[in-house]
Amino acid sequence: MLSPFKDPIYVTRPLLPDAQKVNQKINEIWKSKWVTNNGQQHKELEIQLQEYLNVDHISLFNNGTLALLLGLKALNLKGEVITTPFTFPATVQALDWNGLTPVFCDIDSNTLNIDANKIEALITENTSAILGVHVFGNPCDVYKINEIAEKYNLKVIYDGAHVFGTTVDGKPIGSFGDMTMFSFHATKLFNTVEGGALTVNDKNLHQKLNLLKNFGLASPEDVVLSGLNAKMNEVQAGIGLEVLKLVDEERLKRDKIKQTYERKLAGIPGIRVLTTLQNECSSYQYFVIEIDREKYGRSRDWVHEELNKYNVFTRKYFYPLCSDFEWYKHLESAQPKNLPKAQKSVNQVLSIPFYGELELESAEKICAILKEIHVGFLEETEYQLGGDIL
Ligand SMILES: *Cc1c(COP(=O)(O)O)cnc(C)c1O
Repeated sequence: MLSPFKDPIYVTRPLLPDAQKVNQKINEIWKSKWVTNNGQQHKELEIQLQEYLNVDHISLFNNGTLALLLGLKALNLKGEVITTPFTFPATVQALDWNGLTPVFCDIDSNTLNIDANKIEALITENTSAILGVHVFGNPCDVYKINEIAEKYNLKVIYDGAHVFGTTVDGKPIGSFGDMTMFSFHATKLFNTVEGGALTVNDKNLHQKLNLLKNFGLASPEDVVLSGLNAKMNEVQAGIGLEVLKLVDEERLKRDKIKQTYERKLAGIPGIRVLTTLQNECSSYQYFVIEIDREKYGRSRDWVHEELNKYNVFTRKYFYPLCSDFEWYKHLESAQPKNLPKAQKSVNQVLSIPFYGELELESAEKICAILKEIHVGFLEETEYQLGGDIL
């Protein structure tokens, strides 16, 4: 029986710059007496992120949810939007706040993303857009989605909260579709404590977004759109500039952990690693496994609880499905029978601890625990011991 970790191990830890560096930034901002509204830090972060994400235009926001909400607003959508039930609540809540009805499409069990082959059947005369989510850093089938959108004249928006710096066939992820939302929440690979952005290819759309996040003010006395206040402030932007310097090294550290997990988890019956696709540059946002109850001998929920006893705290992202929210249950597309793959995966997924500071030894131990607690482990060891004696 392995002993519990002395200190709790959480699913993630924020990537934080040295407090001294943050102090320097704050001093700089204080001296300028310009603390929000497109100040120097904000301008600089926009330039650096545009470059890092390799996109035509970027607009910063105070969080990812409001970025998505205003992005949808900017596209003047009506009626229905085809999306995935397997996502964080913010994705569909951004639709709600725009008076748009989600039409839930089942997922691809391999990537956990919206199954592009099932989208077309859901299109009606009320459909105005497709809202895809690049779940856990695995890109959606952006080519197929683009094809469908062109055929039916639909807008395409991506929730890219998990794909900071990801590419598809060498192309930046933020360049696909009409726009992509990024979240810079503390739990995301790159963070500004709270924050977010939209990347767009269209210059006019970019201007509109900049208006929408600042009350629709074209000038102090000219209100041209019904906007909101969703601006990123100077402290957020200043911290972001420091965090950005750390991102590449964090990726390398997470890559080592990823490799350790993949090596050590291989061969444990009933555990499948979900975040290892070809053709992508991983964002290293999460490390996600799927637990097959039949083969592993225990359910995902049991494992989640059992790991707590070892002081390991995992998350069941994205349980429950958005289609199971009380206010969507009446929708035809939300019926469990229409979403068999999502219903299955949502009860199998588990995000396990994944952040640069996690020691490789700890990652190895987590794998050893996962091995120790699966049903059949004892019989296997007894069998091996028996073999040794003979
Ligand atoms: C984190 C997250 C969001 C919300 O972003 P915030 O910046 O926290 O508002 C939206 N969608 C997904 C998939 C997320 O993981």
